[in-house]
Amino acid sequence: MLKVDIIEHGTVVDHIQAGMGKKVLDILGIDEKSGNRVALVMNVPSQKMGKKDILKVEGVLISAEKTDAIALISPRASVNLIKDGKVVEKKQAELPESLHGVGKCPNPNCISMQEKAAGKFHLEGQKYRCEYCERVFKPAELL
Ligand SMILES: [Zn+2]
Repeated sequence: MLKVDIIEHGTVVDHIQAGMGKKVLDILGIDEKSGNRVALVMNVPSQKMGKKDILKVEGVLISAEKTDAIALISPRASVNLIKDGKVVEKKQAELPESLHGVGKCPNPNCISMQEKAAGKFHLEGQKYRCEYCERVFKPAELL
């Protein structure tokens, strides 16, 4: 088992779908310029998922909105907020009932694309329907 430094203050995102760890970093807006200490561990064996990615970010407690956005690409992810070396909050990523301003409609003919309007979607089962063009998309297609 690969050891990663314990985080004193920050966020651990566990059970990320394998290969999606970098996309989670994108959602959080973290890159080499942001200066945070980051550990991304990829392809960790997982009983539940076969393989998973784990992300640890020092110094950032991520918001509920970001947790929802992570759910779009990795519905089984769990988010642990850590303060003073202790987990103070554990959240399961969940697909939000509706999305406003998160995600873009992948339909090039959709009026939301032509008018550069903020996306509006609502959840139907495990997919999202665009409120402009009425088409249905998988969550990952919206990012
Ligand atoms: Zn649309």
